[in-house]
Amino acid sequence: MNTAIVGINWGDEGKGRMVDLLSANYDIVVRYQGGNNAGHTVVNERGKFILNLLPSGILREGVVNVMGAGMVIDLKHLVEEMGRLKEKGISVTSQNLKISDRATICLPYHVMQDCLEEERLKDKKFGSTKRGIAPVYGDKYLKKALKLGDLLYTKNIKGRLYDLVEWKNLQFVATGKSINFEETFEWLETYGEQIKPFICDTGEFLLNANKNNKRIMFEAQLGALRDIDYGIYPYTSSSNTISAYAPIGSGAPSLKIDGSIGIVKAYSSCVGEGPFVCELFGKDGDDLREAGSEYGAATGRPRRVGGFDVVATKYGVSVQGATEIAITKIDILSTLPKIPVCVAYELDGERIDCFPYGDRLERCKPVTEWMEGWMSDISGCRTIDELPKAARDYVRYVEQQIECPITYISVGAGREEYIKVDKKI
Ligand code: GDP
Repeated sequence: MNTAIVGINWGDEGKGRMVDLLSANYDIVVRYQGGNNAGHTVVNERGKFILNLLPSGILREGVVNVMGAGMVIDLKHLVEEMGRLKEKGISVTSQNLKISDRATICLPYHVMQDCLEEERLKDKKFGSTKRGIAPVYGDKYLKKALKLGDLLYTKNIKGRLYDLVEWKNLQFVATGKSINFEETFEWLETYGEQIKPFICDTGEFLLNANKNNKRIMFEAQLGALRDIDYGIYPYTSSSNTISAYAPIGSGAPSLKIDGSIGIVKAYSSCVGEGPFVCELFGKDGDDLREAGSEYGAATGRPRRVGGFDVVATKYGVSVQGATEIAITKIDILSTLPKIPVCVAYELDGERIDCFPYGDRLERCKPVTEWMEGWMSDISGCRTIDELPKAARDYVRYVEQQIECPITYISVGAGREEYIKVDKKI
């Protein structure tokens, strides 16, 4: 059984929490794209963990974790992330972590380039996390990057890096900045040495595991609307976040996915710039933001929030090929007497229910309706019947609109705070 767990919206849907819960049913958890530009938050009996690079299965004993060929990996960040887990008693060994020799190395100059570009863009910026992700993916496609396997197999890696630094410095001329080759090489050697034991052909590992009927879970970072090809370009990430890319990005492109569990948040939130049609402003937005504590973890800045977006979510379900849905954070809506839902878009005076591309999306206005709230704490509910009627009505409405069965309802951040839907809602 090979399953992808993917975000349906703009990211931050609570994928980490669902992967942590569901990984109990899998032998292997694979990250197949992205880098340390996003974080998964997992709360379990061992504490609260924020994972940027490591697959969430690293927190489960007996699960083998794979960082696939589609990832871009900042070696220093990975070493530090492993160190933080070790401090909490979780060991990362070559038995429970395998890193693809085809994954790409994110170097310090990619981070530098990302920061310089954000500076140049000033107020026109796209909201980069400044972790070097766009520059390193760009270099990968220009065939000007180093792969993890180069640390093991390439005899003259110093020469390769020298050429790359020379080339990159030409692009830096106008900025007045330059890359120090010796420092970059030392960085590569220092952190590369610590990562080497984990590097292998993850394709071979996964195909073997698949042959032996091991259960594989593919864990995405970010959501469908951030996919480089199918998202709200250019306000997207630089990688393919969709489930169809999971086998390719794992290292074993011929693997088949049997199902795709889409994670949908009970309301909408969006970090950074770009069209966000369902956005609520004024008191409506403030109330929802307050209820969900939607403030940036590091900066404390208020996040953009909106009601559940039927149009965007239907599109997300479609591009993800979701076969079932887990809805998260429904408990956040418990304090709202009326719950906003963006039921359709209005484009140039016409009501539409298909998610448009580009400038057409920017021109859309939300058509908002309000549903009855339930105004009671539902975090203790463990069955459908325990949910108040208004909450059941809300979930049923979402299910009908997105035309995909809801199989999990998350009512809190803790591992056990969820309802497994085993009958008609
Ligand atoms: P991811 O990137 O999709 O994994 O999402 P995040 O890591 O940003 O998760 C969003 C936050 O919501 C985290 O702090 C989670 O612990 C929390 N969370 C996840 N599911 C629920 C839920 O059902 N209820 C509540 N209250 N919090 C949740």
